[in-house]
Amino acid sequence: MRGVLILGGTAEARALAAELAADPGLRVVSSLAGRVSNPRLPVGEVREGGFGGARGLADWLVKERVELVVDATHPFAERMTASGVAACAAAGVPLLVLRRPGWREGPGDAWLRVGSLQRAAELLATGGRRTTAGRTGVRGPEPVRVFLTTGRRSLPVFAPLPGVWLLARSVDPPEGPVPANVHVLLDRGPYTVEGERALIREHRLDVLVTKDSGGSMTTAKLDAARELGLPVIMVDRPPPPSGVRTTDSVAAAVAWVQG
Ligand code: NAP
Repeated sequence: MRGVLILGGTAEARALAAELAADPGLRVVSSLAGRVSNPRLPVGEVREGGFGGARGLADWLVKERVELVVDATHPFAERMTASGVAACAAAGVPLLVLRRPGWREGPGDAWLRVGSLQRAAELLATGGRRTTAGRTGVRGPEPVRVFLTTGRRSLPVFAPLPGVWLLARSVDPPEGPVPANVHVLLDRGPYTVEGERALIREHRLDVLVTKDSGGSMTTAKLDAARELGLPVIMVDRPPPPSGVRTTDSVAAAVAWVQG
């Protein structure tokens, strides 16, 4: 049996594991970081927790006789991807990176693309407070009300900003005390446009800050923002690793593993 490791944590990783599960010639192991309290589990064998960097992963690949690795982690899981590239090179194991396509701005969208979470925070800080008249960007008495969907670990980047109120939505609660200007909403996609519209209205949100994760499970917020004329600060993905075979299709990943 050929050993295959899927670095997972995404819908695409689960789809790939499901497709490969029926192949009797493969032993497929899906790996999860183990940080989400109640993760959606893929079909088949699963291991959880970090490997201990690139060296730990390389050792694991040798010990488990892994012959192929598919990195199907989230587009923002930069450290894991770098570790996968280094470990596969060290262990001589072929690697395929599976990344779903990013989102594209369409007619009616008002997106501002930025290169990092820090840049998004700077924009919020310098963009000023809204006036009671609306989203003018002119400094006024009320805080800017931000819909933040960049993950609980990004909260320290945004919470200290003066003049900002945050509706921070995440799967698990943030670690540590939650500042007074932050309202945490625990939820997990997929979301509906109706639900997102209602949320934006209920909390009188002025701007959406999100990462270009891609995929269909969380696009409803972008549709609702477009409908309601809400500006979006879109944090760009880190660049994909260079010199590595990459695909955006689960079917192509299945063919690569079975080919
Ligand atoms: P990261 O910053 O690149 O990873 C940090 C460390 O966590 C890695 O160095 C590795 O530890 C461990 N790790 C990450 N993914 C792993 C996996 N699939 N299997 C085993 N260990 C893993 O990644 P992250 O942003 O924390 O993401 C962690 C997981 O959540 C990924 O599987 C990713 O697909 C998923 N996820 C991430 C996001 C996001 O926005 N970043 C969103 C949704 C889901 P060692 O160095 O000890 O091996």
